[in-house]
Amino acid sequence: MGVMMAEEYDHIVIGGGSSGCVAAARLVADGDRRVLMLEAGYSHHHPLLNMPPGIFKLIAGSKYMTYHHTTPQQHLGGRVHDIPQGNVLGGGSSVNAQVYMRGRPSDYDEWDEILRGENDGAQWDWSTVLHHFKRIEGNNRLQNDLHGAEGPLLVSDPGHIDDVSRWFVQSVQAMGEPYNHDFNGSAQRGVGFYQFTNRSGKRSSAAYAYVEPLKNDPRLTVKLHATVRRIEITDGRATGVTYKDASGREHTAFSRSDIVLSAGALITPKLLMLSGLGPAEHLTSRGIETLVDLPGVGQNLIDHPEVPVISVANGPYGYYKQGVGWRMLKNGLQFKMFGSGPITSAGLEAGAFINPVDRDAPPSIQAFCVPIVYLDRDLQAVFDDTYGVSITTVLVKPKSRGSVELRSDDPYDMPLVSPNLLLDPDDMQMMVEGQRFFREVLLSGQLGKRIEKVIAPAGPDLSDEVMADHCRRFVKTNYHPASTARMGPDGDREAVLDARMRVRGVSNLRVCDMSAVPNINAGNTNAPAMMLGDRCADFILGLDRVTPPPEAT
Ligand SMILES: Cc1cc2nc3c(=O)[nH]c(=O)nc-3n(C[C@H](O)[C@H](O)[C@H](O)COP(=O)(O)OP(=O)(O)OC[C@H]3O[C@@H](n4cnc5c(N)ncnc54)[C@H](O)[C@@H]3O)c2cc1C
Repeated sequence: MGVMMAEEYDHIVIGGGSSGCVAAARLVADGDRRVLMLEAGYSHHHPLLNMPPGIFKLIAGSKYMTYHHTTPQQHLGGRVHDIPQGNVLGGGSSVNAQVYMRGRPSDYDEWDEILRGENDGAQWDWSTVLHHFKRIEGNNRLQNDLHGAEGPLLVSDPGHIDDVSRWFVQSVQAMGEPYNHDFNGSAQRGVGFYQFTNRSGKRSSAAYAYVEPLKNDPRLTVKLHATVRRIEITDGRATGVTYKDASGREHTAFSRSDIVLSAGALITPKLLMLSGLGPAEHLTSRGIETLVDLPGVGQNLIDHPEVPVISVANGPYGYYKQGVGWRMLKNGLQFKMFGSGPITSAGLEAGAFINPVDRDAPPSIQAFCVPIVYLDRDLQAVFDDTYGVSITTVLVKPKSRGSVELRSDDPYDMPLVSPNLLLDPDDMQMMVEGQRFFREVLLSGQLGKRIEKVIAPAGPDLSDEVMADHCRRFVKTNYHPASTARMGPDGDREAVLDARMRVRGVSNLRVCDMSAVPNINAGNTNAPAMMLGDRCADFILGLDRVTPPPEAT
């Protein structure tokens, strides 16, 4: 351990991910505040991170990811699966599949209902958060009351659409679902093509959109390879942060005003607990002195469970072999010269939101059409690599809850993560119904003509029991951990934060990342995480009472 060195800033942001980058950039933009952002991971400048298909390599194994191995999941027969998280400036937004999704208005009205009635009237309803989504968004097609065209986050239609994706859309339509030209529009239900956080195939991450433009601004100091180990708390006030730099030297930086904790839903609770803020009994068991007993820290972990339906194609369809031989050369040239072609796509252009049980009820399943035989790295060896189509089905409003706990008091130990995916019987039943629906999609209409056979769940026995076995074997994360330090009302024992994202029982400390959400949104989580960054900055800057623009009310 090296010499302790003192530094002082107006704010310290811990973790330069989707939320942290937005919060830091917004704080800097206000007058002459000096902000330090500490990011444990690497720089976001690498071709693998920039081109959309890079995601498959990232998921398979890369230094840009931290792979959290779950504890053995007893309800899944003791299986351990991975939850990869970004280990790079931009966090998840630098490694993700770039699908641009906010969820639906009722997600935020639900938060508002939970949080309303106290906390000085901080609002979270749809019209309030829409103001932030629009401010962030630079959409290249959709310019209306629900979308922003001028924001720094570039949002685009897919640069390339594979035939398989078109057939998928036609087959789901043939099953009676409407075509949806904007999943972030007035209705979520239906089938269509996603929009992505990129432009001409180049990723638009929180790092590119928010931090890059400030790279020569002396008010923002970004330190990479800076791993925070603890928040310093003196007399009930967060005063600083202790971190280790790339060479292993320890430093303490001090903050005159709010410290913003944005290390993501798996590390934020760990850092709170290491700082003495968490469930007293658990902290005692790890030899940590409790400064504030906060039973909700690390509890209520929500993640979107994902299960694939996998088929083998009867011809050379989809993305298999697009990355090898002469095709790789052709696709690479097209991407480099024109910013178009298959390399502009992460491979999941088409998707759907449906409710397989009651078609008119709010969607319970989000689906992604992946034009390959797709399994993540835990299960890669299960099937032969060949031409095929997978449809991954994701439960958008799961009831199951998991936890994040400390393995030990060693700050460099990974936390114990137990997501409990599909533990709740209602979750399992809904997933089984979703699997049945999309298995049928694979075998019908335009898509069905190109499928040789479905290999998982293979059939012919599609009983609840067999389908649930399939789900237990293949369920994995959709990479959206959330709610491990959630906002909640005064009387809620497990509320870690108030509605202004302030940690209860200590001053000068806010949590600003997906840990903070009272419930997970129905859809991917990068846009909501960035919205939280924008909202948190407004709280700190005292701008949160700004009336939303008229079109959003
Ligand atoms: C593989 C993958 C695919 C995804 N696909 C999509 C998608 O297509 N669309 C979508 O909307 N969402 C997607 N997501 C989810 C989305 O990107 C995340 O929900 C979102 O980025 C979370 O933002 P956050 O700010 O809460 O945390 P993060 O973005 O994870 O930020 C946390 C940051 O803190 C840093 N950090 C951690 N520990 C420390 C420490 N001790 N000290 C300092 N820094 C630390 C991390 O390196 C990271 O940069 C995906 C995520 C992954 C991993």
